[in-house]
Amino acid sequence: MQTWRQYIGGEWTGGRSTRSVVSPYKGCVVGEVAEGDAADMDRAIACAADAFAQTRALSSAQRHAILTAIRDGLAARKEEIARGITDESGKTIRDARTEVDRALLVFSLAADEARRIGGEVLPLDVNAASAGRIGLTRRFPAGPVGAITPFNFPLNLVAHKVAPAIAAGNPVVLKPAERTPLTALRLAEVIDATDWPKGAFNVVVAAAPELGERLATDERIRVLSFTGSAAVGWRLKERASRKRVTLELGGSAAAVVHSDTADLPDTLRRCVTGAFANAGQVCISAQRIFIHRPLFAEFAERFTAGAAALRLGDPGEEATDIGPMISAAAAERAEQWIGEAVNGGATALLRGRGDGTLLGPTLLTHTHPDMTVCREEAFAPLAVLEPYDDWEEALRRVNDSPYGLQAGVFTQDIGRIFEAFRTLEVGGVIANDVPQYRVDNMPYGGEKASGFGREGVRYAIEEMTELRLLALNLPTAA
Ligand code: ADP
Repeated sequence: MQTWRQYIGGEWTGGRSTRSVVSPYKGCVVGEVAEGDAADMDRAIACAADAFAQTRALSSAQRHAILTAIRDGLAARKEEIARGITDESGKTIRDARTEVDRALLVFSLAADEARRIGGEVLPLDVNAASAGRIGLTRRFPAGPVGAITPFNFPLNLVAHKVAPAIAAGNPVVLKPAERTPLTALRLAEVIDATDWPKGAFNVVVAAAPELGERLATDERIRVLSFTGSAAVGWRLKERASRKRVTLELGGSAAAVVHSDTADLPDTLRRCVTGAFANAGQVCISAQRIFIHRPLFAEFAERFTAGAAALRLGDPGEEATDIGPMISAAAAERAEQWIGEAVNGGATALLRGRGDGTLLGPTLLTHTHPDMTVCREEAFAPLAVLEPYDDWEEALRRVNDSPYGLQAGVFTQDIGRIFEAFRTLEVGGVIANDVPQYRVDNMPYGGEKASGFGREGVRYAIEEMTELRLLALNLPTAA
């Protein structure tokens, strides 16, 4: 078994202690990794700060070439990296391969964008005193990026921070999730083999999550990009002072299925996948599904049958649909929420029993909006199905949440789609698909408690660059 080291200043370095990375399914150790302390974090930040002089000087052609080389390096190791994701996160191998494909796309989108970070020319001669003036804007790299990432997409959510940072010309210090550091270290191996300057990408495997707070408080880090739980994210933002901050947090995403949905089998298939993929451990998992009353009974029956047919088990097997949750504690927490809902009057159309980290799909109805299963992010194979009578009511119920990341609406009526677009307090309205739909170039982020700022390659580059103006006084040229 491999013993991994951290990657700081372009070198593989040990740490004070080591930690075992454990498969959530088998419970077996899949790797040993050196853990860093505050001194390692400090060194990584210093290396990133030093490397900025080199990264900001790279031409767009050089950044394009580096991003393309990273993409190709990942592609050459696709199956190994996918297996690694399955090993450390418990994600099914099919989903892990999809994740690697998405990361390849993120790096190639970033390679394209690296050549497009432009600006505009604007007339400044808008009053007499400014006669002959012309403005020119350009986006400049903001500086070292601190990236904190969660366990549920150990590669692609890292890619969504690292690729735009490189496209913009910013060094990175990455603190991956405790349970899934190995994928990030594989990415470091790939980046190490390119021309990205040494010290401009660092992976600190923090011995304690709180070490990540340095990325919020240290002034040498100019941009904090965090994906994880709302409680941690908003607290880091408070501590980040003048830093630029992007937060991608949770949600209790909703789908609305109207009786005029075009193709019911297709809608059902999308909703089943949208609720249970990655054992529901996705920020935009379809946790609340509102169904037009005339369709409710049929939808609930067929949805329950679809969910019950999902195959639970070994994530390394091709046929598995639902692998384990990240930890037994996470599965127990979900079962506790389900128990509370049932004790409070909810009906379980399907009740997934837990066995360690494995938890089968659960479907609840007759819930109340104040129940934890509706209000908080479940991050578990759990969905709530409820009927509604009219479209306005459905949209109101979607909005009855502290969160607002994405929402899906299934209807053939363009008027209803635009009403949803106007009304829903979410970062993205997905027409005729589930809230879980995401393609990696679209702006992605939440309203309300779900986040701050946007990812999606081009939008993340905007968050990681500073707009600067050159005001030209050229009375003779104008
Ligand atoms: P989840 O485990 O649901 O993904 P967390 O917010 O706990 O959500 O974890 C997301 C990332 O945030 C992980 O990398 C974790 O180590 C990190 N993290 C957790 N607590 C802190 C903290 N106090 N300061 C900085 N980072 C933290």
